[in-house]
Amino acid sequence: MYVPLVLTQFLDRAVELYGEKIAVIDENKKVTYSELNDRVNQLSHGLKALNIKKGDKVAYLAPNTLEMLEGFYGVFQLGAVMTPLNTRLKPEDYQFILNHSESKVLFVENELFPLIQPIVPKLETVETIIVHGAESNREEYKSYDIWREQFSKESVERVELDEHDIASLLYTSGTTGNPKGVLLTHRSNYLHAMSTMHHLRVSDQDTLLHVLPMFHVNGWGSPFYYTANGATQVMQRKVEPASIFGNIQKHNATVAHMAPTVLNILLEYYSLNKERLNTDQDMRIVIAGSAPPPAFVTKVEKDLGWEFIQVYGMTEISPLVTISQIRPQHSHLSIEEKHSTKAKTGYAMIGSEVRVVDEKGNQVPADGKTIGEVIVRSNNAMEGYLKNPEATSDTIKNGWLHTGDMAVVDTNGYIQIVDRKKDVIISGGENISSIEVEGYLYNHPDVVEAAVVAAPHEKWGEVPHAVVVKREGSNVSDQELINFARSKMAHFKAPKSISFIDALPKTASGKIQKVQLRKEFWGEKRKVN
Ligand code: ATP
Ligand code: MG
Repeated sequence: MYVPLVLTQFLDRAVELYGEKIAVIDENKKVTYSELNDRVNQLSHGLKALNIKKGDKVAYLAPNTLEMLEGFYGVFQLGAVMTPLNTRLKPEDYQFILNHSESKVLFVENELFPLIQPIVPKLETVETIIVHGAESNREEYKSYDIWREQFSKESVERVELDEHDIASLLYTSGTTGNPKGVLLTHRSNYLHAMSTMHHLRVSDQDTLLHVLPMFHVNGWGSPFYYTANGATQVMQRKVEPASIFGNIQKHNATVAHMAPTVLNILLEYYSLNKERLNTDQDMRIVIAGSAPPPAFVTKVEKDLGWEFIQVYGMTEISPLVTISQIRPQHSHLSIEEKHSTKAKTGYAMIGSEVRVVDEKGNQVPADGKTIGEVIVRSNNAMEGYLKNPEATSDTIKNGWLHTGDMAVVDTNGYIQIVDRKKDVIISGGENISSIEVEGYLYNHPDVVEAAVVAAPHEKWGEVPHAVVVKREGSNVSDQELINFARSKMAHFKAPKSISFIDALPKTASGKIQKVQLRKEFWGEKRKVN
């Protein structure tokens, strides 16, 4: 006998235990868990009226909003598949994803509607478009609130679900190329939620500020484990430091997940406005999506007095599989050692096995220097990529998911991502970690952001080139930064050249798109297996 692990259980539990507690705060909207449940039921009835059945794809294009969160549960109650879309794509990308996924209904936030408008005639499977947001009065489209309010708040007849049924179709960030559609089951999302809530110590005392977009990766999983625990979830629509600090204070937030690039903006803002910002609350800052420079850990823990937690994962594993915290047996480490350990990728979370292996598949020694690829076996792993069996079999081999991320294991057994395979700089036969070089550059007081990429070189094949955003008003020169880097690291690792830029190209989740930076040197040419 067993109870299938299906995601609808999380909201059911919250309603039963925390019905009158505030579930979601979204600007001036505030709803309790039972009100959220009413809205979810109305949505499910509405989708049923649109003939949405088990397995059908329902797409969402929205920033973090109440409507998006209720979409998760409203869609699952019918056994349909939640297909959230990245808000930073181009109209033709939406055309590709909506047709590729065969989505039937599309919910879109009013402000984002112009991204969809030009491609509406080219959508092959979308039958209905519903527009969210108070100002949505587009005559030809259904306005969400008016549409939803027609339907009953009573429970909808649940579709019978097996835990192996597909719950979500998430497209990867597209950091390294075209986004791929990742199919995840109820079971994988569910076990991911159980594991993550344990490691992040999520409870009904928590108020989460949803900073990472919910449409993918770390932002994607949180509506499950924060809901399951009856936490309050505050929607952060725009990534803007004054508003993030404002929301933390106003709502007494206890936890926020963000990418290191967003944390960087926050730390900058803090350093300029220290006097008038109150950071007395107990906050956990959960960092995901890319490697944080070690200097950030100290800034969060010492300057802000908040807890720094780093997690690692990818869309293909729901997403999280490692957490960077200090193991109890290492509690004797000095503060500096603890901070540098937290900047690493950490160790496997419960329900996942993580190894770092060489090309023959043997685990690399825990010596802090031998680089291998991270492979994962996990309850959270995807079923595969939609309509892409080659990419699926390239990624999952003998039951292990090959992440394309390169790492070392330190002598204490903590894994440290050194780079993506595609971002490693191969110079005179040596592998240089772009992340390591960036970490050094961040110690320079005039560097606000840095990205290091491979530039072609006649003698060495490739050399590190840094693209830097410097502090306003700074007149630091490229040669000064090169000299600074050379004083900190092996000569061959230090950038050979530096260019300055106003802002780095980023994905919607705040990842630096090195592929764009490399184009200047290689066009589309630099291929790494
Ligand atoms: P695409 O696969 O489309 O190129 P992507 O890999 O950025 O895009 P995601 O699934 O959003 O898509 O991101 C997963 C990747 O993010 C990981 O493979 C890894 O390279 C990086 N990453 C995530 N968390 C961390 C972390 N804590 N430290 C280092 N890298 C991380
Ligand atoms: Mg990827």
